[in-house]
Amino acid sequence: MQTVLVPEQTLNVSHLADVVVVGGGPAGIAAAIAAARNGSSTLLIEQRGYMGGMGTAALVPAFCPFTDGEKPVIRGIGLELLEIMKREAGESYYDRFKQQLDWVPIDVETLKRIYDREVLGSGAHILFHTMVEQVLLKDDAIEGIVIVNKSGRTVVKAKLYIDATGDADLAALAGVPFQPKDDNGELQPGTMCYVVAGADKARFEKFLEETGEQRHLENIVSKAQQQGDLPAGRKRISGMAWITETVVGFNFGHLFGIDGTNTSDLTQAAIEGRQLIQTQIRFLRNYIPGFENIHLVHSGDQVGIRETRRILGDYTLVVDDYISARTFSDDVARNSYFIDIHLANAQSTMTIKHLPKGYSHGVPYRCMLPQGKSNLIIAGRSVSSDRPVQGSLRVMPNCFAMGQAAGTAASIAAELDIGFRDVKIQELQHKLIQQGAYLGDTPGVESTTLQGGTVVFAEECEDSDHQ
Ligand SMILES: Cc1cc2nc3c(=O)[nH]c(=O)nc-3n(C[C@H](O)[C@H](O)[C@H](O)COP(=O)(O)OP(=O)(O)OC[C@H]3O[C@@H](n4cnc5c(N)ncnc54)[C@H](O)[C@@H]3O)c2cc1C
Repeated sequence: MQTVLVPEQTLNVSHLADVVVVGGGPAGIAAAIAAARNGSSTLLIEQRGYMGGMGTAALVPAFCPFTDGEKPVIRGIGLELLEIMKREAGESYYDRFKQQLDWVPIDVETLKRIYDREVLGSGAHILFHTMVEQVLLKDDAIEGIVIVNKSGRTVVKAKLYIDATGDADLAALAGVPFQPKDDNGELQPGTMCYVVAGADKARFEKFLEETGEQRHLENIVSKAQQQGDLPAGRKRISGMAWITETVVGFNFGHLFGIDGTNTSDLTQAAIEGRQLIQTQIRFLRNYIPGFENIHLVHSGDQVGIRETRRILGDYTLVVDDYISARTFSDDVARNSYFIDIHLANAQSTMTIKHLPKGYSHGVPYRCMLPQGKSNLIIAGRSVSSDRPVQGSLRVMPNCFAMGQAAGTAASIAAELDIGFRDVKIQELQHKLIQQGAYLGDTPGVESTTLQGGTVVFAEECEDSDHQ
């Protein structure tokens, strides 16, 4: 490969803040709101012209459960934003979903507007259309980050940095170590999600009722696959979210072999994803009553990415912690979502493992702290975990909770001029609980409430209902 020596450049410092959050997905939004509400001057940097991450940019159609089947375990800022979206998405939307906390469909345009307002309302500043290009290091600390946008290249300096890019981009630029890939180097597939209008919910439901077809229409999918009208892979129509009686979001079908940190892969997936949507629309129109007249109104700005880098943190959350519903002394969130690993190739199967209703495990602060860096914290789907736990922790409600924890920790650290590892965990937990987060019935008391043991995932394989 050819190389070029790029000349050194003196750059202006365009922004100074206590806390910089890179990435405006669920983790970054909650982090910025928490840091700003707790008094830190906060800047959120986002590559797109709006926030929401996968839930808006990739059109992921619904929020995963906020509850453990019995009670909400994701509370605080995430739950607050969910309730605001329900109220502002229109009367009929509110009537349908006001009682619901699990699998609430996403009204993308309402959500984008709410995120703008709520992040700005917290006192945080936003810089859209901006990517982080370089990290300036001094010893174990980040001194500044080089950003690039239409206005050119500048430096942003802060006391504390929150990486909420989903891909741990900031951590990668800072040289943080990552978890090794598993033996097969497998990653979950991507999905190009989309929204259609012109569907007929009543007709569709009547068809299901009359034919006794399962909601997922497995027989029809299998027939279409045999006739070459759908590609091999996912055996069900899943991830269907009715936003209105005629508008439906889809998270259906997979794009295999995509590394979301590789731009060529993302490019190829965008092109293939749009082609796959055309195939699926034809299938829906021809095979499924209620979908005869659908019209594609929007596909993701990018392919949805479920899994990329996982950092190596001070603690790595592993599947045994998950299945034993472990509580840690430094918990900053709880997770009850099932382990949900999508097939890595068309011949493979889904891997699903549920906790019993009412159970959750703790998410320790240490799994957000990257080894070797004092003023950097990671929030969202790239925290330190093994693959199975990432398959559970990655969903949006959890990312809100981890984001709130990261932002709150940053505000404590900024005030005291200390690094993330020097934050007193009891103070952080106390603040989180005071500000609405749920850390279990006995926060900070180490325990395991379920029998652990070896998990044989193959026995648990089935397809996921939604996402
Ligand atoms: C197809 C699919 C279906 C899913 N289904 C569901 C579901 O039904 N329900 C659910 O709750 N979850 C679902 N998930 C999981 C969930 O959407 C994501 O895991 C979650 O959004 C991760 O949140 P995050 O904040 O960590 O990162 P993201 O949502 O990925 O947000 C990261 C943000 O950072 C920005 N960014 C990234 N890199 C940079 C950079 N270098 N500089 C500046 N900005 C940057 C991005 O533009 C983005 O806005 C699904 C995911 C996929 C892909």
